[in-house]
Amino acid sequence: MGETWDVIVVGGGPAGLSAALMLGRARRRVLVVDAGSPRNRFAAHMHGVLGNEGVPPSELLQRGRGEAAEYGVQFLGATVTRVAQEESGLLVEFAGAGAQKARAVVVASGVWDELPAIPGLAERWGRGVLHCPYCHGWEVRGQRLGVLVTSPTGVHGAQLIRQWSDRVTVFAADGLAPGIESRLRSRGIDIVPERVVEVTGDADRVTGVRTADGCVIPVDAIFTAGAPRPNDAFLVGLGLERSEAPFGLGSFLTVDPSGRTSNPRVWAVGNVANPAANVPMSIGAGASAGGAVNGALVEEDFDLALASEAAEA
Ligand SMILES: Cc1cc2nc3c(=O)[nH]c(=O)nc-3n(C[C@H](O)[C@H](O)[C@H](O)COP(=O)(O)OP(=O)(O)OC[C@H]3O[C@@H](n4cnc5c(N)ncnc54)[C@H](O)[C@@H]3O)c2cc1C
Repeated sequence: MGETWDVIVVGGGPAGLSAALMLGRARRRVLVVDAGSPRNRFAAHMHGVLGNEGVPPSELLQRGRGEAAEYGVQFLGATVTRVAQEESGLLVEFAGAGAQKARAVVVASGVWDELPAIPGLAERWGRGVLHCPYCHGWEVRGQRLGVLVTSPTGVHGAQLIRQWSDRVTVFAADGLAPGIESRLRSRGIDIVPERVVEVTGDADRVTGVRTADGCVIPVDAIFTAGAPRPNDAFLVGLGLERSEAPFGLGSFLTVDPSGRTSNPRVWAVGNVANPAANVPMSIGAGASAGGAVNGALVEEDFDLALASEAAEA
């Protein structure tokens, strides 16, 4: 600590650790700063992650940290509160832990999920209340599945869930666009127009959905998208470009295919830039950015060497 790091990675989830691994192997001085709350910490197992199918999320991260540490990557358990532009780099400030300088920053701080305020729902997030059928649909295939439609993306989600079960009930108190109801019913999907007031069940299990008219509709799991909110407030002073994510998911940092933002020293990867990314996509984005950041630093190393040669001549 103390000198300028080549790269500070903000976030030690799959995206950040993957970037750190690439950069460590490229012999860069790398610090990963992690607040320790990965998005999928509510789920007992990960799925759709080739080579790690069914592995607990914490196990993947533990292994990833060990692998990156083998190449000299260092870790700090802290929350980044601000990233500021300096003349030849960036200053990264931590809550209660000072500040460090870096030539480049990889932002891999993920999202937090804003969930519908329905009693019993948040308590079972990741355990009966599910966000994505590709991640957890197989485990509840053929069962009685509820879909809570709270946004335009919910309708797409409802159609998707039908692939995993022919016993699907859509809860759509805000109504459905013309033509959607008959489309859903054409494949046997039930539609409940009453407002959902409670998700029922025990500690780890969903058993039903209570509606405002007092009925309890039995279900074995509920899918709901929630609203992914990027953990990126600490970047506000940099004035980075943003754009609207598809499906009305909100405003996210604009990045090029390597993850580079509108600031040439800042990359953003994983969910913080792409709310639809799952674990393997986040790992891939981190690996791309790791290579791209090293490439940019290599160019700068040569620029600096030439400039210093010219100054000495
Ligand atoms: C319930 C649930 C289950 C899921 N199951 C699966 C699954 O089975 N398979 C799958 O592929 N995907 C799954 N996902 C999606 C998966 O969680 C994400 O794709 C993945 O976590 C994105 O990785 P990331 O590195 O971008 O972010 P994260 O994993 O969220 O990591 C971000 C890290 O940055 C830290 N951080 C945030 N802000 C700061 C800050 N200011 N300073 C320092 N650190 C900070 C956080 O604490 C966190 O540790 C699931 C998601 C949910 C919600």
